[in-house]
This record gives sequence, structure tokens and C-alpha cells, in this order.
Amino acid sequence: MFIIPKEKEVPLGCVTPAPIGEQPMMITGNWREYRPVIDREKCDLCLNCMVFCPDACWHLDEAEEAVVWNAKYCKGCSICVNECSTDALSKAYELDFEDGVVRLEKPF
Ligand code: SF4
Ligand code: SF4
Repeated sequence: MFIIPKEKEVPLGCVTPAPIGEQPMMITGNWREYRPVIDREKCDLCLNCMVFCPDACWHLDEAEEAVVWNAKYCKGCSICVNECSTDALSKAYELDFEDGVVRLEKPF
């Protein structure tokens, strides 16, 4: 099992906790113009994306030993892309995806 290194632990109160269940007033995924796309071959689980995302949209799946993205609350700020230590994250135009957010017509 992957253990979060001590230096990556963030004391409670420094980040917005991941939404638990549905939070209709907090859905920011439909703001997104670009989404972060992960190249899992390059990801070394540094956890910078998890630490730096202001909306707690990355979490560590310990069983799978992989970081998992939450599309519903990712507003596409690209902070995670900039902070990724191995360039495993890149930004891709949202509307190039089949399930891409279509603002207004399809809020999410
Ligand atoms: S693009 Fe911004 S909101 Fe989305 S996962 Fe990355 S840091 Fe979080
Ligand atoms: S910041 Fe990049 S390398 Fe680090 S865990 Fe996230 S995707 Fe993987």
C-alpha cells in the first residue's frame, strides 16, 4: 500500500476538504475550459496535484496506487498541471472530449 510521505501531509484547515456526496452549490466543473490529462507512465505519485489543487479534485487511490481526478468539481485552473513534478499532467481543451462540459446547454 502507498503511504503518503510526511512532507505531503497537509494539516486540516489548510485545504477545502473534498465534497462529500452531492454539493449542488459547489459544482465548478462547468467552468472548465481546459482539463488536466494524466500520463500514468510519467506519474511518480509525488502528490503535488493532490496538495496544490484548490478544490481537492485529486485524491490518492491507495489500493490502485494512482491519483484520481474528480471532473465534477475541477474548474480547470491548471494549477495541478503547473505543479506536476514529472510533466505527467497536461492541459487539453475541454470541448475536444466526448463528455466535455458544454456550458449553458448542459451545465454538467
Ligand atoms: S485544474 Fe485546477 S481545479 Fe482542476 S484538478 Fe487541477 S488544480 Fe484542481
Ligand atoms: S503531480 Fe503529477 S507526478 Fe505528481 S502525483 Fe500528480 S500527476 Fe503524478
